[in-house]
Amino acid sequence: MKDNKKRKSTQKNKKSDRKPTQNKKPAKRGNQTHKHKPIYKGIEINGKAEYLNDDGAGVVINDKDKITVMNLLPGEEAKLSLQKVGKFYDATIIERLTSSDDRITPKCSYFSVCGGCQLQHLSYNKQLKFKSGMVKKLLTNFADVDKIVGMDEPYYYRNKVISSFAWQNKKVQSGFYKQYSHDVVPITKCIVQDKVADPIVETVTRLCNEFKYKVYDQDKEFGFLRHVLVRTGFESKEVMVVLVVANKMFPGKNNFVKALTQAHPEITTIVQNINDKKTSIVLGDIEQVIYGKGTIQDTLCGLKFNLSPKSFYQINPVQTEKLYNIAMEMANLTDEDIVVDTYSGIGTISLLAAQKAKQVFGVEINKDAIRNSIKNARLNNIKNTQFIQGDAGEVMVQMAKEEMPVSTVFMDPPRAGSDETFLSSVVKLKPKQIIYISCNPQTQARDLSYITKKGYKVEKIVPVDMFPHTTHVECVSVLTRKV
Ligand code: SAH
Repeated sequence: MKDNKKRKSTQKNKKSDRKPTQNKKPAKRGNQTHKHKPIYKGIEINGKAEYLNDDGAGVVINDKDKITVMNLLPGEEAKLSLQKVGKFYDATIIERLTSSDDRITPKCSYFSVCGGCQLQHLSYNKQLKFKSGMVKKLLTNFADVDKIVGMDEPYYYRNKVISSFAWQNKKVQSGFYKQYSHDVVPITKCIVQDKVADPIVETVTRLCNEFKYKVYDQDKEFGFLRHVLVRTGFESKEVMVVLVVANKMFPGKNNFVKALTQAHPEITTIVQNINDKKTSIVLGDIEQVIYGKGTIQDTLCGLKFNLSPKSFYQINPVQTEKLYNIAMEMANLTDEDIVVDTYSGIGTISLLAAQKAKQVFGVEINKDAIRNSIKNARLNNIKNTQFIQGDAGEVMVQMAKEEMPVSTVFMDPPRAGSDETFLSSVVKLKPKQIIYISCNPQTQARDLSYITKKGYKVEKIVPVDMFPHTTHVECVSVLTRKV
């Protein structure tokens, strides 16, 4: 995962998962240093937010200091209490004095405490405008940026939920981490995740209390319960529950499974994941399937995909279809095209491309994902794909050396973007076009800058809102070779 931020998090499995979750790491508070004139904690000032920074915080300019304030929109004035956090200044609102026309009442009552969403107080149209602005600021030098593709119904979109356990008020509770802390806020309803998940998490938590399971304490290295993950198939409606615990021993396992599946017949599989490490990564290495097949199936763009607990899979299926359709339209593949899909995950883009192209090579570092890709190709009876496990950069170097006649490269790297090994080999390979999908316009701008200096031109950039109410934005662009 690529959030290089501060708040503790439930964070996903690092290797296989990279996109924002509601429990992502904390937003960095501003990116400014304040070497002059220190302002001290506790001082109260009145201030007006000038703009939103990339973390969705209002920025108040006080003298030359930039003070970041969560939940304050541009134009709004507030009485603020200054806090000094590390090198950065920020402030909490004592009283908001004015209200922006763009402000709406957040649908979720946990908005001010849960760190998952940053923009619920901003109307959805203005959220899109904000994201579009972020992309334009970074990418407009390369090409015109198209209208951002938003969601018609920007709620209940997440197909994966991770809830963490905590011992609070003499009982097991589950929820998400409070912003900038390791404290769990017990949350029973989340408006961005599939509605199926909340009642299941609630039942799991109730059963954990009934079965008297202890919450794992990382400092004492004692206890059992860590997290519960619920993954749903958008089309198939299959449901996977993964109970992440610290021990292999699962007391009362059969009765637990029986009680859970009786309460929720929609659950199709339950997996016990064992994570006994002192880590903020959610999933451990060992898994035991304790009910059903251990995988669920979903359909995306008409293709079937098998998902295991650790498979990377885009978390917003409605927007993913739009994103992939835009990418395929940009590529405009024919049966003469030889395609390389790099950072291919479980092979989603590879299999879509294979329906049009002559041959597709998927390149992915994660072994599980490669196994999934091969199975997924078989599942869809697709025969013109080959999956290569390895570092995309190294594989690209090899392909360039062998002068493989590649016409199209798809790249969909993690938030950190690509490295120079990869980029220098892509341009040596000389595909006629590169389709670059990115969840971080900053690193995309850096990489586009490299590629465009080596004979490529950006033709089109389309931002897609994959994560409504958060500050994240996905972008797909197409580059063509000039000569
Ligand atoms: N294209 C896929 C997955 C994108 S997520 C989809 O849309 O679903 C990014 C993927 O890059 C992850 O599966 C991750 O395991 C993989 N990855 C990360 N670093 C890599 C590297 N150096 N080489 C190849 N794959 C890498």
